[in-house]
Amino acid sequence: MKFKNKVVVVTGASRGIGQGICVAFAQQGATVVGVARSDLADTGAAVQAAGGTFVAHNADLGTGTQKEAHDVIAQILAQTGQIDVLVNNAGIIRRAPAKDFSEADWNAVMATNLNSPFFFMQAVGKWWIETGRAKAPESSRLKLVNIASLLSFQGGITVPAYAASKHGIAGVTKALSNEWAKERINVNAIAPGYIATENTKALREDPVRNKAILDRIPEGRWGAAEDIAGGCVFLASGDSDYLNGAVLNIDGGWLGR
Ligand code: NDP
Repeated sequence: MKFKNKVVVVTGASRGIGQGICVAFAQQGATVVGVARSDLADTGAAVQAAGGTFVAHNADLGTGTQKEAHDVIAQILAQTGQIDVLVNNAGIIRRAPAKDFSEADWNAVMATNLNSPFFFMQAVGKWWIETGRAKAPESSRLKLVNIASLLSFQGGITVPAYAASKHGIAGVTKALSNEWAKERINVNAIAPGYIATENTKALREDPVRNKAILDRIPEGRWGAAEDIAGGCVFLASGDSDYLNGAVLNIDGGWLGR
């Protein structure tokens, strides 16, 4: 029960990887605040069944403004009084050939996948530093975990905004870890491989792409949300206090190939 009396905020908690992450923290006794646009009842039930406490917070992170993100964090802090872990997981993908890629799709992907995570970290980091928690010797550390991608390292196929946003989040992870390690804040990221969720449904339903992907994964299978959740718990725990600015690949061996 490493996360008893800890508050863990997970964005994109309504399904997929985010839901799996919520359950993994619940198994360690956490109070989990799940953020998403749609109904969070499924995640709430799964968290409670796993032994955690759930707080649902509906919000749209798609505008990517500083005000939107700071308002969400202020509302969560008003309700819980503390945040110990933030997992920036919410993300979207839009597919189109580069020559036809629309401005609307570009802006939507960057707002959700890059602007919003940065402003969330900014709001939580500012609260942590300005309330003196960084200096209190008895206090534990603040853990910020970003969900990056293999496309933080590779270009992908017909997903230019997604690749740009995920390269960006890897950069922001390193930038903030440099600035905030001295504040007792660990900033790290996970680069999931190919995980079977709504986000990758189109790929799994395309027999050619599905085979090409499976043929390249040394583990020989699509990943599951639980495969990512374990790494996330590690990056949020005291076991990773000396880890800063890392992007941890959990990809069944894809990048090592
Ligand atoms: P899903 O599409 O299954 O889930 C996405 C989550 O993000 C949902 O909970 C969704 O909630 C939330 N979300 C999307 N847009 C918004 C928004 N505007 N405001 C609030 N919440 C939003 O995706 P995955 O679980 O597959 O992906 C999770 C993360 O992992 C993403 O960052 C993705 O890029 C990354 N990733 C996924 C991989 C994979 O193979 N699946 C591989 C590498 C990285 P709702 O719609 O209810 O608002």
